[in-house]
This record gives sequence, C-alpha cells and structure tokens, in this order.
Amino acid sequence: MRVLVISDIHGNLEALETVLEFARQEGGFDEIWCLGDVVGYGPNPNECIARLREFPHVCLLGNHDAAALGRVNVEDFNPEAQQAIRWTQRALTAASRTYLESLPDRLCIGDYTLVHGSPRDPVWEYILHPSVAHAQFAHFDTPVCLVGHTHVPAIYHHFLSDGRPVTTWHYPEPGEVYTFQDPDRWIANPGSVGQPRDQDPRAACVLLEVESRRWAYYRIPYNIERTQYLMQQAGLPYRLIARLAYGW
Ligand code: ZN
Repeated sequence: MRVLVISDIHGNLEALETVLEFARQEGGFDEIWCLGDVVGYGPNPNECIARLREFPHVCLLGNHDAAALGRVNVEDFNPEAQQAIRWTQRALTAASRTYLESLPDRLCIGDYTLVHGSPRDPVWEYILHPSVAHAQFAHFDTPVCLVGHTHVPAIYHHFLSDGRPVTTWHYPEPGEVYTFQDPDRWIANPGSVGQPRDQDPRAACVLLEVESRRWAYYRIPYNIERTQYLMQQAGLPYRLIARLAYGW
C-alpha cells in the first residue's frame, strides 16, 4: 500500500491542492494519513476538511483542531494564534465541526503508530530534539511512530550502540528516500503542508510504501501569494500572513 503522509495543513487549501497534484503525478496513492491540524491559521478550514474527505484517509486530532472545537483554553496560544483560532471557530461549518469531533488522538496501523505531537502526549508535546525523542520510545510499541506538530521534517533513529539505546537525529533533504529497517525503531515527521517552519516555504509531504517502509520526502512550491491574499481578505493577523513567505 502506498500512502500520502501529510500534516499541519492549517487551512491552506492552495498548499494542499498542490501536494495532492504532486502525489498524483508521482504515481498516486491508496490513502492519506494526515497527522492533524487540518485547521487553524489558514483561510480555508472547511474546504481543506472537505477535500481530505474525498479520499480514503485517516486523520489525527491536532492541538489547533482541539482549540477550534473549544476543547482547550485559547489563552495557551500566542496572540496571533489566538486571533486565528477565534476566526476559525467562527468560520467552521457544523459538518466540519462534526468531522473534527470524530478525530482520534492516537492510531496504530500495522507497523506504525500515528499521533499529532508525541506518543507520550499525543496532542501537545513537541519533538524538536533527540533527547525528547529518546524518551518517546517507551511510549509506543510499533517499529515506527509518525508525528507532526513541529512543522519541521525530521527522522529520529533509535538503536542499540554497544548494548546501549541511543537516538540520533536526521534532517532529510527534499527528494531523499529513507527506509525504516528492522531491528531499529524510528520517529518520523513529514513536515507541514500549510505552514512550514524550517526556513523553506515549500509545502512538505511524504510518499510512504507501507510494507517496505520506504519513506520518500518531498518539498513542493505552491502559490503562497494566493493563500496570503485570502488571509488578508479574511482579516487574519499580518504576522501569520508574512511568515508563509519565509517558511517560519
Ligand atoms: Zn500545526
């Protein structure tokens, strides 16, 4: 089975459409695994949910999805994010809300555990460092765990070195193919579709061959100005509009 692995779309339909078209041209996929935060920040939350639902897919609950549902205190977010969350809460249709309410915070599919943040704290914890990643391997049983949330693509490799468990960090290059081979274990992050934060503004995605565990990571340019224009029209905060051009 071939899966399009994506995360953190954040209401950016332009970026999502570009990723879907790219994946189609690369030979297509059987289903989508979306690691959460379909909404929040961007101008098209309902359209992104509707588009995702056109495909066989699974989707995890992200912190912005939970915030849009009013499940968490909005004050836990920075001021611009708060403003975007309130905008998203007003924009969401009843159908979108029902969809977000149905999302699980953790899924296991064969060799893979799927969460938004971390296996230890599925919706909220950020894995941005090997020491944080290292502690996560006690919190899932599968060989591979897929996470999003940081908007930074990464692969954490957990293995025995002289009988001692270690975790190393790898920052993949666009176009790079990585294979998760036994007996080691991994945490992998595909990066963000709709709001990258690694100084590369291009949309990120992965095509995963589920059985052979072949992880092919890509970055695709999309029409950022179009999304920025729609955000401006929606009255979303300037800083959130500007950051898309910098990938931060
Ligand atoms: Zn996010």
